[in-house]
Amino acid sequence: MSAALSAGCTDAPVLRERGQREVFCGLTGIIWLHRKIQDAFFLVVGSRTCAHLIQSAACVMIFAEPRFATAIIDERDLAGLADCNEELDRVVAQLLERRPDIRLLFLVGSCPSEVIKLDLSRAAERLSAQHMPQVRVLNYSGSGIETTFTQGEDACLAALVPILPRETAAAPRSLLVVGALADVVEDQFRRLFGAMGVDDVRFLPPRSGIDLPGVGPGTVYLLAQPFLADTARALDARGAARLPAPFPLGAEGTTAWLRAAADAFGVAPERFESAIAAPRARAETGMARYRAELAGKSVFFFPDSQLEIPLARVLSRELEMRLVEVGTPFLHRAHMAEELALLPAGTALSEGQDVDKQLDRARAARPDLVVCGLGLANPLEAEGIGTKWSIELLFTPIQGYDQAADLAELFARPLVRRMKLRV
Ligand code: SF4
Repeated sequence: MSAALSAGCTDAPVLRERGQREVFCGLTGIIWLHRKIQDAFFLVVGSRTCAHLIQSAACVMIFAEPRFATAIIDERDLAGLADCNEELDRVVAQLLERRPDIRLLFLVGSCPSEVIKLDLSRAAERLSAQHMPQVRVLNYSGSGIETTFTQGEDACLAALVPILPRETAAAPRSLLVVGALADVVEDQFRRLFGAMGVDDVRFLPPRSGIDLPGVGPGTVYLLAQPFLADTARALDARGAARLPAPFPLGAEGTTAWLRAAADAFGVAPERFESAIAAPRARAETGMARYRAELAGKSVFFFPDSQLEIPLARVLSRELEMRLVEVGTPFLHRAHMAEELALLPAGTALSEGQDVDKQLDRARAARPDLVVCGLGLANPLEAEGIGTKWSIELLFTPIQGYDQAADLAELFARPLVRRMKLRV
């Protein structure tokens, strides 16, 4: 593990590509967001393709009563023969009558709703006026035009920011953790912050749509996910201040992320150390088990989830893997500054995608492991290259100390499987 906190890749040149891309759209985020906000419902206003995407991504049985659905725009709507707004109002009224447990309804835009220029923000205002105070209606876009799948969460959280209760400058200082985390991870972080004496910790998204965290000039926030540029901008506009930090992945990243909060709240170094010592040691021990399997192996990241740079940092610094190329759909230099500083100098970085050229580079390098989307994984496996689906890193709790070994195991598993297949 490199201990140097050098400039790393802060100013490294980045290969920028604009070509054909292989990514899922922002609707995918509904799969983990609907589990998180337990009284919210996500109504996609889209086509049968959109319905198929979320149904198959979520593996929902036909008998289930999930908290998302698709209002299908059909040929009559597309031809302008039907009033889509009337149809939408009818579908929403039906839904809310059948599901009185819903407190927050998201109308989620899609490529088809954008093509016919259906104004979902006006629809959300109109429907909110009809159904408040029982149900608040918001909207965001999950369309696949120029987006990648994690931007759906960013758009959803950014839509929530304007309705967060407004706190004045006189309100006591509070910490807001931003980005959907599994409940178990959220509870672990709350306990760690509590052990440091930081008690006023709030989370966005909240577990309930009616329990929204207040925000104001007294709010400092930590990003728990690296793909929340629009949400961060909206929070900044509300007077909140971001705490610069690496992301809470691996023992090192989690420590630096927690330390950013500890410093902001004036936690004494001894208290910080005593709060994190045991879980950090557990994380380091747990990761060491997988280092033996991963050290020296090469890894190539295709741009997909926007988690690539923090993951590359964990794999290179804590698991001693060799980075061949680290691709990211978008590079937010300010949010990534602390991560880039920790990457080994000379790491090949790329932003955007020209999938054929990138496949040629991966084939030429023959890495031990490629981290990529589902569409690329099967062909690469058929060519004898091990793969890890990047979307799995969104569905699996990987943040924090107690998940650090699970994170390492996710990368070790495909390599071990390949080795077993060979013998
Ligand atoms: S939003 Fe667009 S990219 Fe996503 S499933 Fe619907 S049509 Fe496809």
